[in-house]
Amino acid sequence: MIVVISGPGGVGKGTVASRLLDADDRLWLSRSWTTRQRRPGEAADAYVFVDRTAFDERVAAGGFWEWAEFLGNRYGTPRPGPGEVPDGHDVLLEIDVQGAEQVLALEPDALLVFLDAPSLEAQRARLVGRGDPPDAVERRMAKGAEERALAHRLGAVVVVNDDLERTLAELQGILAAARATTT
Ligand code: 5GP
Repeated sequence: MIVVISGPGGVGKGTVASRLLDADDRLWLSRSWTTRQRRPGEAADAYVFVDRTAFDERVAAGGFWEWAEFLGNRYGTPRPGPGEVPDGHDVLLEIDVQGAEQVLALEPDALLVFLDAPSLEAQRARLVGRGDPPDAVERRMAKGAEERALAHRLGAVVVVNDDLERTLAELQGILAAARATTT
């Protein structure tokens, strides 16, 4: 099964995805490539950080499953190499909703979860708190509104990230239910 977690910037997707991975040994994280600069304090393995040339070469070689441009930077899901996904594992993608739409077109049975903030104020506070410059905060807020609309059109399961432990429990329940119907 493919599990896609999308959601607006600042909603805590990275934290939720990494806790979910720690708690679930049948999930395998696909690490995305990006042309974005690494943020101060961001883990070196949060992405494969590459320049535009390296990214575009991989696009030309058909090496991405999907890719999208997001606020001036490119992000892509590399096609896993043969044997890269361990047997019996579900693949977790943490990607934007445009990417999710492409994945759903290829894999209609993929589970799409849209993680949303409890409120617009909470989302803005998180973006400011992690050090995004003011213009980036506003662009991500505007982009978030578009993403929310697309997620609804795609029939995403919406989970509100109000409390990390509660959110994790809800996601684990959703995954368990999806696994029960696909196996
Ligand atoms: P950020 O710059 O905040 O790390 O990510 C910006 C957006 O790009 C987020 O919505 C994130 O989920 C999305 N993203 C990360 N990796 C990928 C990817 O491989 N493909 C696509 N389409 N979006 C991605």
